[in-house]
Amino acid sequence: MIVSVRDCPSHEQLLRVADDATGLIGFIAIHSTARGPAAGGLRFKPYPSEKDAIADVLNLSRGMTYKNAAADLPLGGGKAVILGDPAQDKTPELLRVFGAAIESLHGRYWTAEDMGMAPADMEVLAETTAYVAGRMTGAFASGDPSPATAEGVLRAMRVALGHATGTDALAGRKVAVQGLGNVGWALAEMLHRAGAHLMVADMDPARTEKAKSRWGAGIVATDKIHAAPADVFAPCAIGGILSAQTIPDIHAKVIAGSANNQLATPAVGAQLASRGVIYAPDYVINSGGVILVSTEILQIADSASWLAEKFDAMALLLDQILTRASKTGQPTADIADQIVEERALPTAA
Ligand code: NAD
Repeated sequence: MIVSVRDCPSHEQLLRVADDATGLIGFIAIHSTARGPAAGGLRFKPYPSEKDAIADVLNLSRGMTYKNAAADLPLGGGKAVILGDPAQDKTPELLRVFGAAIESLHGRYWTAEDMGMAPADMEVLAETTAYVAGRMTGAFASGDPSPATAEGVLRAMRVALGHATGTDALAGRKVAVQGLGNVGWALAEMLHRAGAHLMVADMDPARTEKAKSRWGAGIVATDKIHAAPADVFAPCAIGGILSAQTIPDIHAKVIAGSANNQLATPAVGAQLASRGVIYAPDYVINSGGVILVSTEILQIADSASWLAEKFDAMALLLDQILTRASKTGQPTADIADQIVEERALPTAA
């Protein structure tokens, strides 16, 4: 294995990890350890080039600094990527080598699941590094983060509805959920239990059909779900869904979902604000998963109290952001960035 340091002034550290025997090529980016060890998942993806992989890992690790600071966690921001098709290239030998590279950082970076990685892969990484979370076994194992992410989004949805309508009640509300994957499905279930009416879209018709038979959800085409006649639009699938093209069609008063990087460009935040749509900033409200994972990294004995405290802090931060937005007319995403940068970002670009 060869670990080489790459020059990267915007981040604390960028490492390239390569191994001829297993075909491994990957990167580890540490954006900031100002708040604590850098934490963020490992993504296994067939990038077109190393340049694309570097751009992604730098962007994602910076995003983790913001997410962890927004969640008031004593963690910095980091991320790792491996180039390749997880279905073909993800071998235990390759993961063990990458785990050894993580171990060589002596805890400056903690990894967990991201795209292309499953809990079983965390167990393989754990054979060569202690700095892996999101595991299924062990004293502080936190398991699947998706239900916790959904719970945080639900909580945020109530806060945003309170601002938009004067009541945080979900009973009788119409909610359009884009994407019925790990988070979207859990969220839809919670919304149904709270008495909301569901409209759903997914690329996989089996999922929408199941939602229809289980909850009486209305099925909407994937390219129309953002425009559904709903009170709330919950993007839980892909990034970039809020764009100059989609925003004019949005009917909902509130946007609150789990997807990362929902704004196609930073500028569209102003377009949402001028239309009077309340956008709950993605990285502020989708932190439930990392809050759960933090109990494993930080070895929190009373995880229930920790989760309750951090979820309360998230709801309070969102309330502050929305209050400031209603007073100033500023886009909510800009306010979130300002507050988080004030908190602790000595290396923020
Ligand atoms: P997932 O892969 O389990 O689910 C995504 C779902 O979206 C799939 O069912 C897929 O078929 C569907 N989908 C894809 N493109 C679509 C489209 N154009 N229209 C409608 N449906 C589409 O992913 P997940 O873990 O549920 O995560 C969902 C989003 O939330 C992602 O953006 C992810 O980065 C983000 N997120 C997840 C977590 C977590 O705890 N899993 C935490 C933070 C953020």
